[in-house]
Amino acid sequence: MSAYKIQEHHYDMVVVGAGGAGLRATFGLASKGLRTVCLTKVFPTRSHTVAAQGGISAALGNMGEDDWRYHFYDTIKGSDWLGDQDAIEYMCKEAPEAIIELEHYGVPFSRTEEGKIYQRPFGGMTTRYGEGPPAQRTCAAADRTGHAMLHTLYQQSLAHDAQFMIEYFALDLIWDEQGVCRGVLALDMAEGTLHLFRAHGVVLATGGYGRAYFSATSAHTCTGDGGGLVLRSGLAMQDMEFVQFHPTGIYGAGCLITEGVRGEGGILRNASGERFMERYAPHYKDLASRDVVSRSMTIEIREGRGVGEHKDHILLDLTHLGPEVIHEKLPGIAESARIFAGVDVTKQPIPVLPTVHYNMGGIPTNYHGEVVQKAGTDPDKVVQGLYAIGEAACVSVHGANRLGSNSLLDLVIFGRAVANRCAATIKPGAPHKVLPADACDKALANLDRLRNANGSTPTAEIRLNMQRTMQNDAAVFRTSKTLKEGCEKMETIFRSFEDVRVSDRSLVWNSDLIETYELQNLLYNAVATITSAEQRHESRGAHAHEDFPERDDVNWQKHTLVKVDGQGNASFDFRPVHMYTLTDDVQVVPPKARVY
Ligand SMILES: Cc1cc2nc3c(=O)[nH]c(=O)nc-3n(C[C@H](O)[C@H](O)[C@H](O)COP(=O)(O)OP(=O)(O)OC[C@H]3O[C@@H](n4cnc5c(N)ncnc54)[C@H](O)[C@@H]3O)c2cc1C
Repeated sequence: MSAYKIQEHHYDMVVVGAGGAGLRATFGLASKGLRTVCLTKVFPTRSHTVAAQGGISAALGNMGEDDWRYHFYDTIKGSDWLGDQDAIEYMCKEAPEAIIELEHYGVPFSRTEEGKIYQRPFGGMTTRYGEGPPAQRTCAAADRTGHAMLHTLYQQSLAHDAQFMIEYFALDLIWDEQGVCRGVLALDMAEGTLHLFRAHGVVLATGGYGRAYFSATSAHTCTGDGGGLVLRSGLAMQDMEFVQFHPTGIYGAGCLITEGVRGEGGILRNASGERFMERYAPHYKDLASRDVVSRSMTIEIREGRGVGEHKDHILLDLTHLGPEVIHEKLPGIAESARIFAGVDVTKQPIPVLPTVHYNMGGIPTNYHGEVVQKAGTDPDKVVQGLYAIGEAACVSVHGANRLGSNSLLDLVIFGRAVANRCAATIKPGAPHKVLPADACDKALANLDRLRNANGSTPTAEIRLNMQRTMQNDAAVFRTSKTLKEGCEKMETIFRSFEDVRVSDRSLVWNSDLIETYELQNLLYNAVATITSAEQRHESRGAHAHEDFPERDDVNWQKHTLVKVDGQGNASFDFRPVHMYTLTDDVQVVPPKARVY
């Protein structure tokens, strides 16, 4: 292994990822006096957060009645009672303050007539514990909220004394003999040099793994690297079977049309022009939560009421909104629809299809962002030195189904929480323990293997096999048969990675090697997802199992924990859902039927 020269760097904290979650954590940590470095494989403002359109939720009540307790209730109901209620309480209660903080940092929110932050309705967001009218709770900067947030957060990070290592790819986590996470081994993609970032805490903020599927709204960089690092370290991931399909990806292209379009009054129609959501969700109609709308659309298509030559999609109609509303509130959507569907939204509906959008599952953490694993009788044992936030993590505030606009909120709430936690528990400038001599050996062996991989199957071919299998067999609706076949296929595909071929042998800007690393991480996430789906014998949130169509709270109101070994074999355990709150401000919401 001595063939590789490694430069060592010492910090208090290392953050991997510079999306909304990573940036909020980075400048939070730096502002608390911890020496912090942030590694990112893309330039910070190119992280997927930049693509978020619709907005960020918080019960500000700027545009009518609202209360954070309603938000708490909606999020639990949206999660189909799989979310941890302590974490949900923390997030919804902190939300208004976090939004005002963002406003003060400089996020250019859209405004109401009186100059307050503009808020639009979003799916599943209601008032009076699901009994009142839709809540206008989603704070928006037109339809470019993520862009506005990410740029502001990056500017704040630069204002504080945080170090950025841009276009550095995290290869592996580095552990000591006691199982404490001590740092990250990374590759400087431009120079081809190896760097060991030693730290008292590693925060994984690497985003989701939408690219395990063929059609996804997420960027090509959303390859679940954090989850891959964790699974390859032998730790468990949580609730991976819950993958959100967004109802309105552009047919064919997969690009997102925000739920904000329906928030502003857009309507879904089938081939005969019918507003079919009235039949499935009589009360909230097109603004029912995402899993409900995606399933309804899929049923319409299956029963022959889909649109087009192949009757295989649905129309999203906003022609009745008028050019002014579209121009002011949804300019980005008009542009995307023109470029990717060739449609003038003021005159024609947009062809849409449910498309993979968000991963509810991820690295299990508590509400401080500390990674937890089940150990003996303790379901929530903290892993020393390791933290996870944002879409990479599973806190779990989204449970079995995330409500739109709750992810951007999750990023800032838990990015801030992890900074506060580390400031309270880590002493700035504390010396680093000597690492065991072989601490990097496993990581270097993997690098060596991938760099010199001389098999017969190109990375892209294995990736396509995986994406097709996940798309077909772990879809909106699942059956025992498709899942079983999917698991078998994924096992074969996982093993075909032994035969991968990397053609470029250099280390300088070797995109072939980086894509192979990303594929390795995706394969671990994909196996974890489809095997977790196969073993969950109920339907809950985004997991719609046709052979077990009912939610089963007696046997299945629990988090799935999954580990994947080097051969692609999955093993399972479970953690109880937190059915308790942190304070008396709210009461636990017991499970009940979920209707909209
Ligand atoms: C099109 C679209 C629209 C959306 N709209 C909304 C919305 O309106 N409201 C809402 O609440 N949510 C929305 N979401 C969801 C939300 O935007 C995402 O869940 C969220 O932005 C994820 O942020 P993140 O910080 O966790 O990760 P990301 O923003 O994905 O950032 C990941 C970071 O990790 C880095 N990274 C990853 N792997 C490595 C590695 N190996 N080494 C080094 N760095 C690495 C990347 O460089 C990047 O900086 C949307 C999602 C999509 C795809």
